[in-house]
Amino acid sequence: MSDCIFCKIANKQMDTKLITETDDYVAFNDISPQAPIHALVIPKKHFSSLNDIEDIELMGKLVQGVKEIAEKLGVKDNYRTIINTGAEAGQAVFHMHIHIMAGRPLLWPPG
Ligand code: AMP
Ligand code: ZN
Repeated sequence: MSDCIFCKIANKQMDTKLITETDDYVAFNDISPQAPIHALVIPKKHFSSLNDIEDIELMGKLVQGVKEIAEKLGVKDNYRTIINTGAEAGQAVFHMHIHIMAGRPLLWPPG
């Protein structure tokens, strides 16, 4: 989508340093980190939210990617993944993304 900030990142229209990239997804650091490690994994194909993903195989690749990115970031033994769906659940960018947070004790439930 042309007005989607995460599509712009995935399409290299933004000067965002990528942690990793495959044919299916890119990962990069959150611009407003809520933990010492706070990365985002996004599919290159635009889906507004988790509810709009029909490609389960792609979702599996993203989850595999989360594991590999956590390992690359050196936090594979302790990290949190979050997918916010809907504004009231905290979703601000309507291009589906998986947060990876780590590097400090993370309370549960998050509030
Ligand atoms: P959510 O609230 O789940 O939609 O998460 C959106 C996340 O995207 C927030 O944590 C923002 O800090 C982050 N974000 C927004 N714009 C950018 C950007 N240009 N580069 C990196 N992270 C961003
Ligand atoms: Zn998008």
